[in-house]
Amino acid sequence: FVVADFKSFTKDIEEIYWKCKGNTAGKNASYIPQLARVNPNYWGVSVCTIDGQRFSIGDTTIPFTIQSVCKPLNYAVALEHLSPIVVHQYVGQEPSGRIFNELVLDHNKQPHNPMINSGAILICSLLQTLIRSEMNLAEKFDFMQNWFSRMAGGERFGFNNSVFLSEREAADRNYALGFYMRENKVFPERTNLRECLDFYFQMCSQDVTCENMCVIAATLANGGICPMTGEKVFSTQTVRDVLSLMHSCGMYNYSGQFAFNVGLPAKSGVGGGVLLVVPNVAGFFTWSPPLDECGNSVRGIQFCEELVKLYNFHPYDNI
Ligand code: GLN
Repeated sequence: FVVADFKSFTKDIEEIYWKCKGNTAGKNASYIPQLARVNPNYWGVSVCTIDGQRFSIGDTTIPFTIQSVCKPLNYAVALEHLSPIVVHQYVGQEPSGRIFNELVLDHNKQPHNPMINSGAILICSLLQTLIRSEMNLAEKFDFMQNWFSRMAGGERFGFNNSVFLSEREAADRNYALGFYMRENKVFPERTNLRECLDFYFQMCSQDVTCENMCVIAATLANGGICPMTGEKVFSTQTVRDVLSLMHSCGMYNYSGQFAFNVGLPAKSGVGGGVLLVVPNVAGFFTWSPPLDECGNSVRGIQFCEELVKLYNFHPYDNI
């Protein structure tokens, strides 16, 4: 086993869990009512090692929307089908240093990276127009859900229609990003902006749980092989690219500080989820809705920081 003494490992996780539970700082996302009214006391942590040992504590079977945590996963699917060379003709690899939905492009007039809204919307247009362009919209949604299911070891995610409808109603900034990118000829030719944004909102509105998301984190930690099924879901190159950008850009405009303090690839979402990858060891997923000013889950960040205090998972701990 990669974690030889799993019992004492889970005891430590439990301890960190209770420590973070007492932290009631932060506020739920409030741009749509469906996120604002989620109970802020929900707190769950799930872990899956690369050899399939699992542990969960707290609210790990209650569904919530994946939101921005879909961004690295959509990016991974795009890489698998198009190669990094093609994908990065459209989107960069540089942290933007700005908030996730800032109306800004890089010096090439392209999105800075696939982990912020502009880049994620662009990835959605690649998925719709360059991959499976023969499919209709329903088939494209199924195609992505099948991908997510393979990453999660066969678990199928739900779809939260009221979140989807609200996202679409509250979409001025995402539309502004879309038009700004269209003005700068960022998209592939056949892109239909309305369909592209709907697809982005659909991806964000998938209902997930800590228990199934930690398996996705573990698939990434395990070089693309899902520890529950043994299936090779992603190539080594895809995993390397996804984890690299999660490391530098995954935690909004806290990414640099997170890389300094924790040093591990992670991705957060406004629903309060944090996906954390400990390469060659395990995948974690934490969920707690209250967010800090950067948009990261307060308890999620605290959990990651406490974890690397106890275990030397930071890549420069052992030098
Ligand atoms: N649906 C949200 C948006 O596009 C997702 C953003 C996020 O999780 N940061 O604004």
